Amino acid sequence: MSIEELREKINSIDSNLIDLLAKRRGLSKEVILDKNDNKNPIRDEKREEELLNRLIKLGKEKGVEQHFLTKVFYEIIEDSVRIQQSHILNPSKEFNGKERLTIAIQGIEGAYSYLASQKYFAYSDKELEFVSKKRFSEVVEAVEKGEADYAVLPIENTTSGGINEVYDLLLHTTLSIVGEETFQVKHCLAASSDVSIQKIKKIYAHYQAAAQCSDFLATIPEARIEYFADTAMSVQKIAEENNPEFAAIASEEAANLFNVNIIRKNIANQSENQTRFIIVSRNCVKVDNRLPAKTSLVMATSHSPGSLVKALSVFNAYKINLTKLESRPIIGNPWEEMFYVDFEGNTEDEDVRNLLDELGQYLRFSKVLGSYPSQVLKKTKLNPDSKTEMDEIANVITKGIQKPIIKKNIKAKSYKLASREYKEEDTIIKVRDVEIGGDSFVVIGGPCSVESESQIFSCANEVKINGAQILRGGCFKPRTSPYSFQGLEWDGLNYLEAAGKEYDLPVITEVLAPEQVQAVAKQSDIIQIGARNMQNFSLLKEAGKVHRPVLLKRGMMSSIDELLNAAEYILAQGNRQVILMERGIRTFETATRNTLDLSAIPVLRELTHLPIMVDPSHAIGERDKIPPMALASKIVGAHGIMVEFHPEPEKALSDGPQALRYPQFAQLMKDLKKL
Ligand code: PEP
Ligand code: MN
Repeated sequence: MSIEELREKINSIDSNLIDLLAKRRGLSKEVILDKNDNKNPIRDEKREEELLNRLIKLGKEKGVEQHFLTKVFYEIIEDSVRIQQSHILNPSKEFNGKERLTIAIQGIEGAYSYLASQKYFAYSDKELEFVSKKRFSEVVEAVEKGEADYAVLPIENTTSGGINEVYDLLLHTTLSIVGEETFQVKHCLAASSDVSIQKIKKIYAHYQAAAQCSDFLATIPEARIEYFADTAMSVQKIAEENNPEFAAIASEEAANLFNVNIIRKNIANQSENQTRFIIVSRNCVKVDNRLPAKTSLVMATSHSPGSLVKALSVFNAYKINLTKLESRPIIGNPWEEMFYVDFEGNTEDEDVRNLLDELGQYLRFSKVLGSYPSQVLKKTKLNPDSKTEMDEIANVITKGIQKPIIKKNIKAKSYKLASREYKEEDTIIKVRDVEIGGDSFVVIGGPCSVESESQIFSCANEVKINGAQILRGGCFKPRTSPYSFQGLEWDGLNYLEAAGKEYDLPVITEVLAPEQVQAVAKQSDIIQIGARNMQNFSLLKEAGKVHRPVLLKRGMMSSIDELLNAAEYILAQGNRQVILMERGIRTFETATRNTLDLSAIPVLRELTHLPIMVDPSHAIGERDKIPPMALASKIVGAHGIMVEFHPEPEKALSDGPQALRYPQFAQLMKDLKKL
């Protein structure tokens, strides 16, 4: 046969292969309809194993190598599983009315995020439109603001590890992870014409891509590297410049997209180079429990020895496999860490919900980032007995550690997480170096409102020299009259933050609206929710989503039970750092501004593990009567007090009559120490 004839034959076989693949895919689609009717699981591992064994045997007879054959059939089986999964969970189902999906990515068309999006949405019937952004934060913002339906972000790479910027964005965003995709990164060297590598003088590359190809680059030291924000843009640049001495490192797909020459393939140091991408959206998805699902969680363990080990042992107790544990520093809190955890499981399952409940005991913060179908599909196992590596690690970690007792049914109260039944030992909340709760007694002092930079600096000095621990100052004021001073708002917060830094004091300020919470949490160490907002449920929920402790004041018309339920709103969102505060309630008595309910302290100490503080200032409203009630608070078992003082109470813009004078505050601090 001539070479032409041979090629002709090969072409015809390839066409037949495609026909056969198309037929096979059609049958897969029918299988899922049947599985749906009979509620059968998507994957039938036994059948997959049999299928593969039979094919290997057949291959042997026909002289097709086992390694090659399994590689081809892994791809075919994966495609089939994906077809069936997407039937159950159409990734774009939540945008049913739309013909097009808008996807935000970092970089331009041809970038790796673009290619991963194409792969992930290949099984959806919608047209894709891309919104290209320069920075990851802008990509997230585009979805938050509704400019795009989804964002596709790289989260980790098998060569260079986690992508820190993306992890840090996940902590603060309101978006949920709805999917994941992996993409095999294959770097090539591309140039505008077919030149020899030795002629190249300049190479455009993304810094990460250049790092991943460092061995190859070392072989052409004459070529200068110029860094670019993304790989596709570097190809676009050489296509535009059309200079034979310039080259770019990019994917083969990007080189083809911009119609340039690939002058060397596979130039990465490591040939197995995969990037995992996450798909995020404004709404979370409910994953059908027949699909293998993963859940991503970010958590901070409490400051006690062994708390991470205890937290991890809960996963072991529930036999739930961790697939990732990554730690990141908390910005603004030196040497404190957040843990990013991925595990196999679905928040739709009761077991996973119980696990998260149990886990909460060892955490001071947690946020579920989403449950989503696992796209990292398990390959068909040919040896079903082998244990996974994660099983082994979990066993080593938990050897010798007492397994947590799984408390399934905590007796029905309208609140749970706040109760002593749920958590027996006192919660201790650490704010910088200050511990609130347990045996400590903490004093928060400062003016009612931040009025100027010099005023708050003077108050901070007063807190410091008298041995109080935390500086307060209202920036957004909840005033009874709309004509009263409303606070200096963001300017005030800048002064407060600066004063806290200067005097090394944690600061606390009040938030009035849900929209303020995330931003204020960036600057204030503690978030205060005032008496008038104790049952502002959307505000409580938002406060539950930040990693800062929340000081929750009892509403002036609220019962102890209502206060605990309000705390529950915050706790249930994942933020387990709530400080309760008694600040006086309204009674028939008019001799004082409110009536300080000190009996609430021993009652609350019994009902809850959360720290409880007292604000005698707003309760009594008259400066001379505040110190004795502050002392009484310590005696009845409060974990601390919050008092207002002012350099010149007569000139105060709010709550002047209840502001202690500096010498009074100094005396109070001395008297408290004697108790
Ligand atoms: C305050 O602490 O500044 C305040 C307004 O208190 P309350 O919410 O208790 O009235
Ligand atoms: Mn006040």
